[in-house]
Amino acid sequence: MRLTSGYRAAARMIAAIGVVSLAAACAGSGGGSDPAAYPDQNITFVVPFSAGGPTDTVTRLIAEPMAAELGGKIVVQNVEGAGGTVGAGEVAQAQPDGYTVLMHHIGMSTAPSLYQNLGYEPLESFETVGLVTEVPMTVIARKDFEPATLQDLVAHVKANTDTVTLANAGIGAASHLCGLLFQTAAGVKLQEVPYQGTGPALTDLVGGQVDFMCDQTTNTSGQISAGEVKAYAVTTPERVASLPDLPTTTEGGLPDLKVSVWHGLYVPKGTPPEVVTKLSEALQAALADQKVIDQMAKLGTAPVPAGDATPEAHRTKLEEQLGTWSKVFADAGIEAS
Ligand code: ASP
Repeated sequence: MRLTSGYRAAARMIAAIGVVSLAAACAGSGGGSDPAAYPDQNITFVVPFSAGGPTDTVTRLIAEPMAAELGGKIVVQNVEGAGGTVGAGEVAQAQPDGYTVLMHHIGMSTAPSLYQNLGYEPLESFETVGLVTEVPMTVIARKDFEPATLQDLVAHVKANTDTVTLANAGIGAASHLCGLLFQTAAGVKLQEVPYQGTGPALTDLVGGQVDFMCDQTTNTSGQISAGEVKAYAVTTPERVASLPDLPTTTEGGLPDLKVSVWHGLYVPKGTPPEVVTKLSEALQAALADQKVIDQMAKLGTAPVPAGDATPEAHRTKLEEQLGTWSKVFADAGIEAS
């Protein structure tokens, strides 16, 4: 596991900035407000990654229809750092009043296996609100990277382990997980370059500063279609309708590289149940909105079925995923640091 001291320092600095800005955002939220009147002030949706990435995109897609349904205003705030754990940690400490909501992804279930001192416990520190969407990932590279196919990519990185760079959005991010699965499936150990989100990682990939990475179709579809990056495969068992020419990892010869990125909404533990219910119902309404369905389809994904946008289904998924990934990391000999 690579976690450089420079990276730790940067994560701490970002954490400090996150604390200040989130505290400022929450200052007007006055805990203890009447749940029956919810919402009577702005709601902050915290995205634990940079603006311009897939988690940010999905959050902004649902924020407006959810706000309309709730009859309030939702402000999206990016509190990035350390693979999503900084923003998640901040929300865990926020007032449990429903005015600070976290959008997180599969990283909620991988981080406990990767960080010794996480500062929150997924099943104890939050109330689950509902699942949002499950997004395929793509294996992509700078457009002038030599390998033409997934098999060529595997051969190329094996022959160039000292020079090839693999970008991710930080330890515990979905791109980090996908990169680990790639390295395990290919039998190789590469240099990883962590970013604060895949927004900036993708900018560097397009600019040619890093060689390759995995990321959600919500972030990569545009660049793939525009030919700004080279795409090798999609990490789901079936091809994605919006990228029909892109083979699956199984077709490309890496059947063990399979992962899709589920997203869910969380509020701090102790948030009143009637507030959680209002948020969950607003989420279900947003996911039934035809504009949201159409926009998600263009980005290679879809809303979860209505029954999954509930606190119960979300908690069940989280429990199952915590077990799945802790076993995968243990089997791969990867320890928390
Ligand atoms: N796609 C990122 C990840 O690898 C997160 C993001 O920027 O939304 O987890």
